[in-house]
Formats: sequence, C-alpha cells, structure tokens
Amino acid sequence: MRRALYCTAAVILTGSLFVSAPADATSRPKPVDTSKLTRAVTVNGQLKTLRQLQVIANRNDGNRASGLPGHEASVAYIASELKKSGYKVTKQTFTFPFSRDLEAATLTQLAPEKQTIETVAMDYSGTGDVSGAVTPINLVIPPGEAGTTPSGCAASDFPDPGPEPAIALIQRGSCDFGVKAVNAEDAGYDAAIIFNEGQEGRQELLTGTLGGPVGIPVVGTSYDDGVALAAAPSTARVTARTEVDLNRKTTNLIADLPRKTQHPDQVVVVGAHLDSVAEGPGVNDNGSGSANILEIAKQYVKTGLAKKAQRPVRFAFWAAEEKGLLGAYHYVESLSDAQRDKIYANLNFDMIGSPNYARYVYDGDGSSDGNAGPAGSAEIENVFTSYLTEKKLASAPTSFDGRSDYGPFIEVGIPAGGLFSGAEGIKSAEEATLFGGTAGVAYDSCYHQACDDITNLSTRAIDELGDAAAHSVGTLALSKTGLYGDAKRKAASSKKLGAAKRDALGHAPTR
Ligand SMILES: [Zn+2]
Repeated sequence: MRRALYCTAAVILTGSLFVSAPADATSRPKPVDTSKLTRAVTVNGQLKTLRQLQVIANRNDGNRASGLPGHEASVAYIASELKKSGYKVTKQTFTFPFSRDLEAATLTQLAPEKQTIETVAMDYSGTGDVSGAVTPINLVIPPGEAGTTPSGCAASDFPDPGPEPAIALIQRGSCDFGVKAVNAEDAGYDAAIIFNEGQEGRQELLTGTLGGPVGIPVVGTSYDDGVALAAAPSTARVTARTEVDLNRKTTNLIADLPRKTQHPDQVVVVGAHLDSVAEGPGVNDNGSGSANILEIAKQYVKTGLAKKAQRPVRFAFWAAEEKGLLGAYHYVESLSDAQRDKIYANLNFDMIGSPNYARYVYDGDGSSDGNAGPAGSAEIENVFTSYLTEKKLASAPTSFDGRSDYGPFIEVGIPAGGLFSGAEGIKSAEEATLFGGTAGVAYDSCYHQACDDITNLSTRAIDELGDAAAHSVGTLALSKTGLYGDAKRKAASSKKLGAAKRDALGHAPTR
C-alpha cells in the first residue's frame, strides 16, 4: 500500500539539473580539512546502526513510528550509543495527535456494478463500516485549474442525505481535506470519499491528512475512480479502522558535548528524523539519515576533532516528522529568542541511502526556482556542492520549501542545508546520466512501505552522501572564520510557529 506520496521528492525541479558549479568566490568559506572525519565515517559504521534499527522494527510490529514502541526503542538505542561517546543526552518529550490504520481501508462499489476500488484512509479518518448511496458533492468534471474545485468546501454544497446511511463523494480542490470531511460529517453523511482533482499530477490515488480527527471514515481514491462513481447513481461500501489519540507522547533526542568552544553562541544543529511511518521499518526513511549523523557524532569524538571545535555541534534525532515535522517544530518553538539567535545553522539529512539514488543538495541560494533559504543557506549549500564537485560527484539542487525538519528553522530565519537521495519520485533519463541508476524507476520504490527494510539501500549512496554530510558537519564545526558573519545570523525571529504548522505538514498534503 502506498501512502503519503507527496514527500519532498514532489518538489524536485528536474528541469534545472546542473553539475554543481562553484558559487561566486566571495561566498566561499576557507576550506576546512575534514578528511579525518570523512575517512572515519564508513559505510560499515552506518550499516551497523541500520541493522540495529531493522532489528528494533522486527521486534516491534514492523515499524518505528512515533507514538509506538519501535520508536521508543530506537530512541533508547541511539541515546545509549551517544552516551558511550561522551555526549550529554537530553530527551524532549511532547504530546502530538497520533493516528494510524489498524486495518487497511476498503472501498467497494456495490451498484450499478460490483467492484473493488483502490483506496487508502486519510490520516485522522474515523472508524466505520458504511454501505449506502453515493452523493456527488458539487463536482467539476472535467476540472478547471488545479486547486480550484469548490466541492465540499461550503456547508451548502451538501444536500440533505436523508435517513439512510449516506456517503459523500467529494473532489480535491480549493480547501483542506479536513474542511471537506468535517462539512460532510456535519451535514449528516456517514462516510466520505475524496477523489483526486483530475489535472496532470492530480490523477492518482489520493492520500493526505485531515489535519485532525474526524468522526466518520474518510478515504481517498483516484480521479478516474471518483468520476466512475459519479457517472451513474451508485451505492458503495466504505470501511476504515483507525486508531486516533490526541494525547500520545513522543520524544526528540538531543545530544551535546560537554565541552567549551571558541564560539559558544554559534550552535550547529545537525538533525535527522528517527521516526518511521507506521507502515514499515523506515530503514532508508529515515534510518539512513539517523545512522549517518550518529556515526558522525561518534567519529567526531573518536578522531579527536571535537577537541578542535570552534563552535558547538548539537545532534538532534527528531520525532514525529512523518506527522508533520512535529518534533522539529516543537524544538524550535521551545527555544527563547536568545536561544534561536544562538543557532548558527541547521543541517538536515532525511534519506541518504535511496536504492536508485540522486545527489540532491537543498537549494540554499534559490538558483533552481528563486526560493532561497535564509541568508547563510547559500554558503551552506556551497559546502556540499564544492565537496561533491571535488569528489567528481554530480549533484542537483532540490527546492528549499520547508517540507522536512529544516522547515521550522528556516521559518524563523535560521540558515539551513542538507542532502536528500530521493523518495517516490521517478528518476529521469537526464538524472540517470548524471547520477547513474535506472531511469523511469523511483529513487526509492519502497518509500513509506513495509519493504523499506535493510535491503532497501544503496551502500554507494550511503558512502558518498554520508561523507558529504560528515564534511559539512566538520566544516561548520571547525571553520575558524565561519561561513558567514554575525549579520547573517541576526535574522532569527521571535515568530510564533503555531499557525504555520498546519501548512507544513511535511510528507502528507492537507489539500
Ligand atoms: Zn523522511
């Protein structure tokens, strides 16, 4: 079953690939020799952790999702490893709205024709088993421009369903899925089907989040299946069995070295989300980023480089990324203005081992689409691209739109950067030439599935990108001059992030 298909890869700009050229000389920091660290961070070191994460998933119902025991066991394992290396480990626990499927949702057309339709429950769907007439709600077929269909956005869209069990058939469009679902429930419908809007890129099986609990089962389906249900008076059966808990707890793991540095007010936060989706063990997403930064943390101490640190490095293993970057949001929101100003940079590693990988670098300077990160992000991007260029490894920018854990950091003006090896998106022929691998195949065809296991990795990707990540951490920690002056960092704002959270629900679309 495929879920939440709109992860970071959806925003990759394949039209603007380039073999990374050095940025203008003025933005170039003095190179830092990180070879000790990149040599020490090995594939085997990272694989040891990845195997352990697989074992943890095996022992815990096949997943490591936040709010479930597999994540807690992952936190315990990483914490004990970090402590062995001398880190002071802090656990930051917070409450979040948990939801998962206990059984796969089903959608069956009963009349005029009996057939099974591919479906998936939307996040925070209610539980139920409903058979009844299907009522099309203000549909636009064929659709107009993407994101304009008003279906279900107004209470007045819904005719009185009458006394019999009733199913609302709603089209994706101009308001959140959650609004459509709540309107259907309020109008007296017993279940809702939301189908994709119909334009190019909006035709496949619809997955997404309702943003909060809804009392009726709400399932997604493709545009074609939605149109077929609407074509003739239909009856259907919708089933969903979910678990929703608004007060579930989960934990960010934060590790610091108890050691003085030259610039204690320039903290480098190196992050990766440790949680998986509930559907699988999450070895690539994001065991790979987690194993990588754990290995960097260990080797940073072991090689003695930590003793030469110019600025503190804080390693963060975020929770509940898969529920909307919730751990990273919680962390940034919990910082005072003064503490935000002390974060020099955020480095983020969310998937570096995709089997059919690309070498994407977050587009800090906005060269691909004009969507630059906060001042300083261009310099961070350049740390990665210069390194990869030097190693004769092609890279490409991936749009910096905040759809991973760096999101809350850039929202308050903290510069950020990182790497990404690709998710469910399809590798183009041009990319296959650039990065190797197979054109026409997903970067990670097990993305967010049960098969994202220990076999779902490219050791070459882990080798190349793992070293690039180590180089970036080493550079930011050890650079005497720093990448950018104080003027760059003063931008951190005291902005409240609460309202923004809804718009940044990470891997799952809200509308
Ligand atoms: Zn991820």
